[in-house]
Amino acid sequence: MATINDNYLKLKAGYLFPEIARRVSAFSEANPEASIIKLGIGDVTEPLPAACCEAMKQAVEEMSDRATFKGYGPEQGYLWLREKIATQDFQARGCDIDASEIFISDGSKCDTGNILDIFGHDNTIAVTDPVYPVYVDTNVMAGNTGSAQDGGTYEGLVYLPISADNDFTAALPQQKVDLIYLCFPNNPTGAVATRDYLKTWVDYARANDAIIFFDAAYEAFITDPDIPHSIYEIEGARDCAIEFRSFSKNAGFTGTRCALTVVPKSLKAKANDGSTVDLWPLWNRRQSTKFNGVSYVVQRGAEAVYSDAGQAQVKQLISFYLENARIIREKLTAAGFTVYGGVNAPYIWLKTPDNLSSWDFFDKLLHNCHVVGTPGAGFGAAGEGYFRISAFNSRANVDDAMRRITEKFKA
Ligand SMILES: *Cc1c(COP(=O)(O)O)cnc(C)c1O
Repeated sequence: MATINDNYLKLKAGYLFPEIARRVSAFSEANPEASIIKLGIGDVTEPLPAACCEAMKQAVEEMSDRATFKGYGPEQGYLWLREKIATQDFQARGCDIDASEIFISDGSKCDTGNILDIFGHDNTIAVTDPVYPVYVDTNVMAGNTGSAQDGGTYEGLVYLPISADNDFTAALPQQKVDLIYLCFPNNPTGAVATRDYLKTWVDYARANDAIIFFDAAYEAFITDPDIPHSIYEIEGARDCAIEFRSFSKNAGFTGTRCALTVVPKSLKAKANDGSTVDLWPLWNRRQSTKFNGVSYVVQRGAEAVYSDAGQAQVKQLISFYLENARIIREKLTAAGFTVYGGVNAPYIWLKTPDNLSSWDFFDKLLHNCHVVGTPGAGFGAAGEGYFRISAFNSRANVDDAMRRITEKFKA
């Protein structure tokens, strides 16, 4: 009989979103008249920017004509897209990133997992707690951890707690780690990283020959001019960081699929024989072998993000969600909640009232207000006592949800 990758058996059952769905459907069945507002899932709600749609329609026309039809494109993505990204997203912010260091992909969820292909299994790996669960589960699948322990952590991973006590910015690890996942603006806490804070990580990584995986999926939500959008705005990051970006949250590509990963040519790590090896050729080889590129049509859609019209439309989308976030912050604060995030990020992270557990607050919100959010404990043990509200929704739903919460939880 064929055998399996036993590491998959270590995974805890996908607990968070199925458990939310179970509780919501049980409540709906018992209360069929209740209209439930979902402020839980991290998916966008507004349609694609018109400039992206126009570009994709045009690209479909090209594909329908023998003279302009395109077959396989470069595995790394079309150069016309990578050059726009390099100039407008990086060089315009003073980051020394070349188009050849940008790899287009169908998602940064996949890339944050796939990147492990080119790293050894003996690295010490640090994640924050709470954390985007993909970072942890992909390491479990790759065999980089031991078993799940009570409390939901995995043996072998280094967990860096983030909470109000440290302004949702993890302290440097006490022990030496080799790979570090950082996500700013953060999902789930909505926290951002200052230049000085990021510099402490870049300095740590360079001093310890570590590599930072920097997830900047939410960079477009940064409105504060002092907050860096890219880790490459920090001196020395070219020598220690891989950055993941996505068109999912800025241009609403969650269902269209396009993202990018930056692997600087200056990055190095160690081979088994002790020699130093460049990472760029390994990732290039990995992508060329296991990936055949993002569709031409979608890359043309992503390219339109960099046109003047596209930039204006993306800005409008982001402002819309940030205004939702502002309304949520304001109403929840007025209702007596302690809230974090939601200024340079689409997520509001609130402290549950009366020291309720995350799940008890979930039930209370569902039963009393018919509003669904995400229990902080689902993102890690240190998320207990917190709760995530997403600003990805219609204005009508946000207003309605806040009215309901204000009525029930008046300070
Ligand atoms: C939404 C999100 C992404 C983007 O994933 P895609 O696969 O590109 O849609 C990446 N990282 C985090 C933390 C996210 O929340």
